[in-house]
Amino acid sequence: MVWVGHGFSRDVYLNKNSCFTDGSLATNTKRDYYEILGVERSASEQEIKSAYRKLAMQHHPDRNPNDPAAEERFKEASEAYSVLADGDKRAAYDRFGHAGVNAGGGGFDETVFHDFHDILGDFFGFDLFGGRGGQRRTRVQRGADLREDLNLEFEEAVFGTETSVNVRRHETCEDCRGAGTAPGKAPVTCRTCAGHGQVRHQQGFFSIARTCSTCQGLGQVITDPCLKCKGHGRVLRQRAVETKVPAGVEDGTRIRFSGLGEAGPFGGQAGDLYVVLHVKEHAFFEREGSDLQCVVPVSIVQATLGAEIKVPTLRGEHTLKVPEGTQPGTTFRIKNQGVPILNGRGSGDLFVEVRVQTPTKLSKRQRELLQELSGTLKVENSPQRRSLFGKMKEMFS
Ligand SMILES: [Zn+2]
Ligand SMILES: [Zn+2]
Repeated sequence: MVWVGHGFSRDVYLNKNSCFTDGSLATNTKRDYYEILGVERSASEQEIKSAYRKLAMQHHPDRNPNDPAAEERFKEASEAYSVLADGDKRAAYDRFGHAGVNAGGGGFDETVFHDFHDILGDFFGFDLFGGRGGQRRTRVQRGADLREDLNLEFEEAVFGTETSVNVRRHETCEDCRGAGTAPGKAPVTCRTCAGHGQVRHQQGFFSIARTCSTCQGLGQVITDPCLKCKGHGRVLRQRAVETKVPAGVEDGTRIRFSGLGEAGPFGGQAGDLYVVLHVKEHAFFEREGSDLQCVVPVSIVQATLGAEIKVPTLRGEHTLKVPEGTQPGTTFRIKNQGVPILNGRGSGDLFVEVRVQTPTKLSKRQRELLQELSGTLKVENSPQRRSLFGKMKEMFS
């Protein structure tokens, strides 16, 4: 329901009127209608009309929300106009004043009010307060955005890929090019609302406008619809949409493909397609932004004497030099072996943490060797602070 124009309540009017019957004019004297509109008593119909338009625009409640004073002035002006715009009422008012037009019933003539709404409709319904009332909806709208999910392998997210997603979307009908009409035919003005898109109902002083149900507020109806789209201008299609996934995306990344969403009804701009990525986990690499992490076990001998070990990267094998005396938990950084930076240059790094494996299930010979070693090693078992112990964790590049 749309509020068009603005009525004034019969109650307010009658209360004011009552001051005439009980004679208490002193406090409730109604202002002169000509004075309210700021026109001479000899003013022409046109002068009265334009004076009222000016005041109505200035004090309209739509323009002055929560302003009772403005609302009062608007009502006052509307009341004055409803009387002065009507020849008979005006003559009666000129002769008898307020009593002349308010006697017997105390309301305004509905026909006068109709005219009043026509004036308001011109000003408030269409141009100044678009959307508040009277404005016709338009067929052309932007198409809806769509969302599709896409599952990617870990490597596809790292290096990017070209794939396609299946999208069910409305596309512009080729037969009518989105118009919805049969060849050579055009939409016709809706007869129910005479093209206004709204139907007005008079309820006392109030004019209520409702969206026209025949044309859904469009003001036009298609009488000869396109056979293919049945007048909708669009057809539903299942389509594989080519999707280029850039390198460096990650789980949860949302890629927007501009204009690949639903076609806009009746030639409107197409919506966007959002592809939400779901990236599978890797067997041993873990991602943190553009860096990769993994853990590689080394023997106590490799950690103690140093070794060269083969470490896998996403771009092939890398030989990592583990230096003599490497402590457990030491992390090595292999530069540029991480993930390409999304929409940027270069790549992150690969961090390899070495975990020294304590040997189990020793043979008799191995046990003898270790015992022999133990006799020669100086062992320091005195406790240390955790924070100090943590400092043993070094980073090499
Ligand atoms: Zn069509
Ligand atoms: Zn209609």
